[in-house]
Amino acid sequence: MPAGLAKNAVVDEILRRYKVVWALDHSMAVLGWDMETHMPEGGAVARGAASGQLAMMVQKATIDLSPLLGKAEKLRDLDDEDRGILRVLRREVDMFTKIPPELVEEREKITTEATVVWRRARKNSDYKMFEPHLKKIVGLTRKISDCLGYTKHPYDALLNVYEEGFTVRDADRIFSRLVPGSKRILGKVIASGVYPPKHPLESVKYDTQAMTRVNDGILQILQMPMNRFRMDLSTHPFTIGIAPDDVRITTRYEGVDFKSTLFSTIHESGHALYELQLPDKLRFTPAGNAASLGFHESQSRFWENVVGRSKEFTKVVNPILKKNLPFVNKYSPEQLYFYFNTVRRSLIRVDADELTYNLHIALRYELEKKIIAGEASVSELPSMWNDTCEDYLGIRPRNNAEGILQDIHWSGGSLGYFPTYSLGNVILGMIWHKLGDGELVRESLGRGDIMKLRRWLQASIHRYGAVYSPKVLQTRLFGEWYNPDRLMDYYATKYIA
Ligand SMILES: [Zn+2]
Repeated sequence: MPAGLAKNAVVDEILRRYKVVWALDHSMAVLGWDMETHMPEGGAVARGAASGQLAMMVQKATIDLSPLLGKAEKLRDLDDEDRGILRVLRREVDMFTKIPPELVEEREKITTEATVVWRRARKNSDYKMFEPHLKKIVGLTRKISDCLGYTKHPYDALLNVYEEGFTVRDADRIFSRLVPGSKRILGKVIASGVYPPKHPLESVKYDTQAMTRVNDGILQILQMPMNRFRMDLSTHPFTIGIAPDDVRITTRYEGVDFKSTLFSTIHESGHALYELQLPDKLRFTPAGNAASLGFHESQSRFWENVVGRSKEFTKVVNPILKKNLPFVNKYSPEQLYFYFNTVRRSLIRVDADELTYNLHIALRYELEKKIIAGEASVSELPSMWNDTCEDYLGIRPRNNAEGILQDIHWSGGSLGYFPTYSLGNVILGMIWHKLGDGELVRESLGRGDIMKLRRWLQASIHRYGAVYSPKVLQTRLFGEWYNPDRLMDYYATKYIA
């Protein structure tokens, strides 16, 4: 709730002062969006400096709230919203105060250098070039994990940065189910040949202007509110919630294989709907955000995979495709469905289909966990990568560019981030189950009533913002948390039933 409306004077004072943090974050979001979409290359240095200054102001203004926060945390009789606001603020204060400024500065320096080297190393498929930088990053990340604190596993501290309360125990439970389950279903899908590994439409070129009209049509089908939303172009598609009434996504056009931009647009729209449907009353407060990265990713993947790659949606989108992309006329909706749902053993995570995706994440999780626990050395990572990849996906990278060097995350120091992608899938499975094993999706799409799904997501998830931690929100909604069985049921129903 905006300042002045909280029932408690201390919380009210916190919210009044938090508005400064909010305004700084808001400004940084606009600067970040501009940098990715419109800024000329030469603007990078000044933009970096300005954003750096603003980030320091955010840090100071947040830490300054610490005494008031301590006072508020002793209060009784707070309602769920107030408690949620204090819980999220506590996380923000802790992240800023537990890691000493020297480490933050060192991380900035090391990762900036490492990212530049990683780009060259990937291009040359030269792990030795990147290895000393990764070694530094791992050493530093271990120190950060010690500063943040953990009870059981040093990797727990890192997982908790990206998904509140998420631990190695949770992740082991999830992946020990997803890995054998996905391998089993994948084997059956490939043996049956029903879902093809390749489709002729994947090599068909399209006209960018025509495809832009298709994507605009998608936004209309999803009923995106165009007075509070916009779509632009960028190299890597993303969503940014500048405010609940100003949410922006980007897409890109590669000129070939139109499903890539189509599903990227639907994916980012799923993220955007979460931001657009956050509650007004939490505006300007620490809890006026998504519950977690896992929850955010569940929304994008729900729209992309459960809705977008369904037989029903293929029928909904078919007229727009036929109208704008003449080559589609050769294919029936049924054939389009299989183009949208090719399944293959692949090496590159970002190109993976929904069924093999979690195997790519499980591979990264195993390596990160071992390296942070000191159970593996940085020099043996490439061979571990290749062996695990062969075990999980049945295919071995021919070089490090299509193996360990493919992702930017480690060079930026983001260890602990990858599992959130699979959490998105796991939560998506739970949503699918809650919707009568997808029945409500089929029903809504059959009647062309997208708003029914949007309203359900808003009433069940979006309206709470970050008032509840991800585990509490799942318990309230599903009566359980991070249950991978629902996702495996979804895959089995879709691919081998
Ligand atoms: Zn996403």
